[in-house]
Amino acid sequence: MAMLALDNLLKNPYETLRYADELRRKFVGDTVTFVVNRNINFTDICINDCKFCSFRNIKEFILSHEELKRKVAEALDFGCTEVCIQGGLLPNADVDFYVGILQAVRDVSKSIHIHAFSPMEVYHAAKNSRMHVEDVLKIFKREGLNSMPGTAAEILVDRVRKYICPKKLTTAEWEYVIKLAHKNGIPTTATMMYGHMESWKDRIEHIMLIKKIQQETGGFTEFIPLPFMWRNNELGKNFKGSSGFEDLLVIAVSRILLYPEVKNIQASWVKLGIKLAQAALYAGANDLGGTLMEENISKAAGATSGEKLTPEELREIIRVAGRIPKQRDTLYNLLE
Ligand code: SF4
Repeated sequence: MAMLALDNLLKNPYETLRYADELRRKFVGDTVTFVVNRNINFTDICINDCKFCSFRNIKEFILSHEELKRKVAEALDFGCTEVCIQGGLLPNADVDFYVGILQAVRDVSKSIHIHAFSPMEVYHAAKNSRMHVEDVLKIFKREGLNSMPGTAAEILVDRVRKYICPKKLTTAEWEYVIKLAHKNGIPTTATMMYGHMESWKDRIEHIMLIKKIQQETGGFTEFIPLPFMWRNNELGKNFKGSSGFEDLLVIAVSRILLYPEVKNIQASWVKLGIKLAQAALYAGANDLGGTLMEENISKAAGATSGEKLTPEELREIIRVAGRIPKQRDTLYNLLE
C-alpha cells in the first residue's frame, strides 16, 4: 500500500502539492497558527554520536538551575506560554536529574507549559535509574511535564538509523516510549529528519508509522518534517540536504498521507527559512512553529534564518502569505 501511495504521489508532484493544499483548506481552513515559546538546551554534552549532529560537545556547557530559572523568567516576560527543553545525554543523567529541571521551571512558574525531553532522553533517564519507562513518565508528569517533543525520530527505519544514529533508540523503542507517553496523558509532537541517506520509500514508511500510532493513541499534536542541515557534521560530508522543491513535496506528502489522522502539519521557519516556510503554507502546512527566542541546534548545523521571531513578526509573515495568523498554545488551543 505504501509503495502504491509513493508512486502516485511522486508521479505528478504539482498535483500532489495542489491536493495537499486542498486537504489543508478543507481540514483546517486559512488559519495559520504559531506558539510563543522559548527553546532551552540545558547541555550540549552528550555520550551519543549521531552523525548528523553539529551541536554535541562544542561549548561543553551545562546550565545551572539558576541560569535555567533566569531563562524561564525571561520567557515569561516575553509572553511565552511554553518552554521547550531538551539537551544532550549526560553520562549519569538519571530521573532525579531530569526532575530537577522540571522543578526548577515550576519554581518560577506553576502554569507555563513544559514541553520537554525527547523519547531518547526519557529512555536514557530510565536506563540510568534502572527504572521502567512508564514509571519515569509518570514521575515526570507528576513533577510538571505537560508534553514531549517527538524528536529523536530522525527516520524511523532501522537500516537508516543504524548508519546515522547507531546508539539512538531503535524504531520499536521510539514507538514504545511514545505510546507509553500517550497512554499516560502526555501528548507529543512527531518529527522526521529527511534529506540525507534515506529514500522516499523510507520517508513514506516513517509517515505511515506515525499514522498508525495516531490511529491507536490520538496522542500526536502535529507532524513536523525537518530538513537535514548538513554543515559541521559527519553526515554532511556525503549528503548536502534537500532542495526547496523537495521540502515542499515532503510537506505535501505528509499532509496527504496523514489525512485525516494528524490535523496539524508544521513548517519549521528555522530550518526552511522564512520564505520557503511561507510557500509551505501552500503545500499543506498550517503552522509555523514558535518564536523560539534561542536556537542552538540548527544554527550549529548552518541554519541562517535567525533564532528568534517576535509574535508580531510571525503574524506579519503569515499575513504576507495571505493567511490568517492566530496564536495557539502547545496543544493547539487558539489563544485569540
Ligand atoms: S543529536 Fe542529540 S543524542 Fe545525538 S549526538 Fe546530538 S545531542 Fe547527542
